[in-house]
Amino acid sequence: MSHPAPAGEERPRRLVVLAGPTAVGKGTLSAYVRDHFPEVWLSVSATTRAPRPGEVEGKHYHFVDAAEFARMEQAGELIESAVVHGRNHYGTPRGPVEQALGDHKMALLEIDLQGARQVRESMPEALFVFLAPPSWDELVRRLVGRGTEDEEERTRRLETAKVELAAEDEFDVTIVNDDVRRAAEELVSLMRSH
Ligand code: 5GP
Repeated sequence: MSHPAPAGEERPRRLVVLAGPTAVGKGTLSAYVRDHFPEVWLSVSATTRAPRPGEVEGKHYHFVDAAEFARMEQAGELIESAVVHGRNHYGTPRGPVEQALGDHKMALLEIDLQGARQVRESMPEALFVFLAPPSWDELVRRLVGRGTEDEEERTRRLETAKVELAAEDEFDVTIVNDDVRRAAEELVSLMRSH
């Protein structure tokens, strides 16, 4: 489902914000875009979460401690920030995004819903894309199947996912993540057309 842009909407929308429920595959999709579409600049978030096996500082995240995250927030270095799943802090560093847009690149932020709402306040010209699961059952299967979180964490993430699914109507466009390659191609062609 794609909502038409408001009449007179001619501003460039080189900044695309991708959000969606927990475990819908935002991370996999953005990794696919990073690996296959080098013309898309991908924001690297700061987080207080510990790295998972295989995650690389500066590529997947900037891993910082709580004090450094608080400093970045207070210094205005983050475009948006949120506590995700009631646990860790995540935020989008401002400088690199401004530089990418200044260089006329297509920029992609993969963030949670709270963060997307903050970006809409400060950068309403961005294009907001909701990544939806093919179905609720599929979302649950992906959430449990990932196996990187314990039971308590899974329950917490499912609760978050229910709330996040209800937010689809706040977005400009929905992409269904039925297949990562297809969804990535749809996302990038959307970016190119804006
Ligand atoms: P994970 O810990 O699994 O990598 O990510 C957990 C959640 O944090 C995902 O929903 C992801 O979209 C979100 N997230 C990652 N980076 C940011 C960010 O910079 N800001 C916000 N608000 N959420 C983020």
